[in-house]
Amino acid sequence: MKIFLDGKFVSENEAKVSVFDHGLLYGDGVFEGIRTYDGRVFRLDEHLSRLEQSANSILLKLPVGRKEMREAILETCRRNHLRNGYIRLVVTRGLGSLGLNPFQCPKATLIIIGAKISLYPAGVYRRGLDLITAVTQRNSPRSLNPAMKSLNYLNNILAKIEAVQAGKDEAVMLNAEGYVAECTGDNLFVVKGGSFYTPPVSAGALQGITREVVKELVKEHFGRMVQEVNLTRHDLFSADECFLTGTAAEVVPAVSLDGRSIGGGKPGDTTRKLMKKFALLTRREGVPFEKGRKA
Ligand code: PMP
Repeated sequence: MKIFLDGKFVSENEAKVSVFDHGLLYGDGVFEGIRTYDGRVFRLDEHLSRLEQSANSILLKLPVGRKEMREAILETCRRNHLRNGYIRLVVTRGLGSLGLNPFQCPKATLIIIGAKISLYPAGVYRRGLDLITAVTQRNSPRSLNPAMKSLNYLNNILAKIEAVQAGKDEAVMLNAEGYVAECTGDNLFVVKGGSFYTPPVSAGALQGITREVVKELVKEHFGRMVQEVNLTRHDLFSADECFLTGTAAEVVPAVSLDGRSIGGGKPGDTTRKLMKKFALLTRREGVPFEKGRKA
């Protein structure tokens, strides 16, 4: 595996950052997870826009511009023959002293890892996820805004620990008002009476790239607009269907929450249709990276 580290491709063994990197010391940095399908990078510019917005929000100057970043990603895919894979793009605040002050870090560190993807196990896509509600609340937009995809994921990790300890697949995170925000690494949707709902970004949801894709698919195939509204646990218990979306997870059904079955405890037809349409779309579009291949 060849990893892009600050302008050079290095082997896995050589891909090391300093113990004084503020990404390690403080979780000070931003990242993206991106997919390749059939030799194309899916929604590359959308991911790069979100990265730029996250970086801007924490006053982190990206070490290279959009064009160079794009090329570095495509080259990472080429060197790793990443026809169907996952790219982890990480920008840390870089090398500094032990103090918090980010302005003493002269240059951000850029890391691009091309890897194989670990989705949920295949069976989960057939039987659906069992969820719990985490006691750990989603970060408030007034403290660490969840709209920024920062390296600081402890909030999500604490909720994931709750799910694992409860023997369930995933945790739903609520915000301080008790409304559903999202899951630990995925957005959440419900379907009820033919309408589609998802929490708004203001409720603590990340503006997921897959969430946007699903909105497009719902419009195209069901002639509906997804409604961004505050959702309660009760809304989830009483939904016809529930599913999660994310770059790694794609579209995955959820069939129970806190011991209540959702929609009869089986993945619904609407969710299954969206899973199929999503799979078709990912095979149709994207930025090709293999030499001589046209978009
Ligand atoms: N919420 C969180 C907290 C995430 O980390 C992610 C990405 N893994 C998502 C939602 C889904 O976003 P996307 O569809 O852009 O991957």
